[in-house]
Amino acid sequence: MRKNFNIAVDFSEIARKNPEKLAIKAGKFEISFGDLAVLARKIASALQPNLNTKRVGILGSRSIPAYAGILGAAWAGATYVPLNMKWPAERLITLLNDLELDALIVDASGAKLLTPEVLEHAPELILRSDDAAEVPGSIAFSEIPGVAPETPAVLTEDELGYIVFTSGSTGMPKGVMVSCGSLKRYLDETEKWMGLTQADRIAEAHDITFDLSIHNMFLAWREGSSLHLMTALDMMAPQAFIRKHDITVWMSVPTIVNNMRRANKLSGGLLPTLRLSIFCGEPLAMPTVDAWASAAPNSTIENIYGPTECTVVCTRQRLTNPPLITPKRGILAIGQAYENFEIAICGEDGAPLPDGETGEIALASPQLSNGYFKAPEQTDKAFRMIDGKRWYYTGDLGYRDENGILHHMGRTDNQVKMKGNRIELEEVETHLRRVCNTELATVVAWPFIDGTPQGLVGFTTAKDKDEATIRKEMMATLPEYMVPSRILLRDEMPRNINDKIDRKALLAELNAPTMETPSAEPEKVLV
Ligand code: AMP
Repeated sequence: MRKNFNIAVDFSEIARKNPEKLAIKAGKFEISFGDLAVLARKIASALQPNLNTKRVGILGSRSIPAYAGILGAAWAGATYVPLNMKWPAERLITLLNDLELDALIVDASGAKLLTPEVLEHAPELILRSDDAAEVPGSIAFSEIPGVAPETPAVLTEDELGYIVFTSGSTGMPKGVMVSCGSLKRYLDETEKWMGLTQADRIAEAHDITFDLSIHNMFLAWREGSSLHLMTALDMMAPQAFIRKHDITVWMSVPTIVNNMRRANKLSGGLLPTLRLSIFCGEPLAMPTVDAWASAAPNSTIENIYGPTECTVVCTRQRLTNPPLITPKRGILAIGQAYENFEIAICGEDGAPLPDGETGEIALASPQLSNGYFKAPEQTDKAFRMIDGKRWYYTGDLGYRDENGILHHMGRTDNQVKMKGNRIELEEVETHLRRVCNTELATVVAWPFIDGTPQGLVGFTTAKDKDEATIRKEMMATLPEYMVPSRILLRDEMPRNINDKIDRKALLAELNAPTMETPSAEPEKVLV
């Protein structure tokens, strides 16, 4: 029998066997597996006759309709493409043009972004949730007459499951294309150590544009656990949310915990219902681990590592006693590779280095993504065939110790993780240069608290615009979290011996005692 790799298959089986089981709770709304399956099948029936590129955009936040849209797109046999609600209209339009979507699915918040200008570039078929404001030409979920079959459309492992966008150094985001087969391999490996059951209650702290949402959503849908979606308000006090909903599984970037810790919100024994806590996306500092271990005494703690390009993650380290710490960095090791991954540590010439030496982490696996959407050059640069094997060069620095444990040592490039968001500083610089009409513009991440950057600062020699104007113009093409909070105007830029702008000198200038450090804003975690 031919195997169906459609990413909605696991969900459909739970819905058939256990329709009453709670699937998603979002504020005062909740929906069972059975009802969510019916909604997804309705959406799929509206999509199916219109599939051409097989790409369906989802413009929505953490909401039941957005999840139903993802599931409906998959059910129909399409690739879902989450569109970032923080993109300004100009960026949204550029990507809508590039993506050539067959349809767009919007929830109430997404519908608000469909201004007449954006609508001109949107696909003809727009499906909107019933609570969304009227959008000209769109169809409300409840107006869809048909229902797709109980079994999702048959897909092979090579067909795309999703495309997730991440920052790109050229000035536009890169769309990482992940096949149904890669996602299945990821889920097969991950379910082995997660041990999820139908009794698990998983908190969802990430937007659907961040690939950690894929982990929670598809594992919950494979095992029959419930997903509890956090609102922006819930994100201000995650500890209260965990307690109120008896959450058993937590996953987030460490920044969220650091915010709670700094606000003195994490007391010993506060979170007794948690049995599993997973951290990912940023280095996991030991003070963060210690604070969480004390607040969640019944929880196992896992540090998982991986770029979006490897399909969510590829290494894992459990908190042991004593912990496996990366010396000099005071962070938990990133551990050992998933079984289906080969990991090499490479020198500047790309050749493998011996254990103990630090170099670039390269990954080979059938779980790797297919590359970047409509960007063959960027794909070829990051994904390289070596002796018949395909490797992804992560840009992360690391080494393997004498026990085979991997340690993360930073980056080879100017990519930063800020409050959970992956940002290539070159992307921000491209926009700063354009707005200032000069080549002399650079951006650094600053200040650092607990080893993670809290903000961006731009430097430029532009003479004809002030800081406020430059920021305002950048907001027109970049999401707010990528716009430097400060732009410092200079007569000249410092140069290093290669005659390039000297970022180190600029950082030293910022770190000088005279420079006022903006206070960290704990409530603004943009994940
Ligand atoms: P993203 O593609 O947004 O998931 O970001 C991937 C990048 O986040 C990686 O290439 C690393 O630089 C960083 N990262 C992810 N997980 C970890 C981790 N556990 N420890 C350190 N850095 C991490």
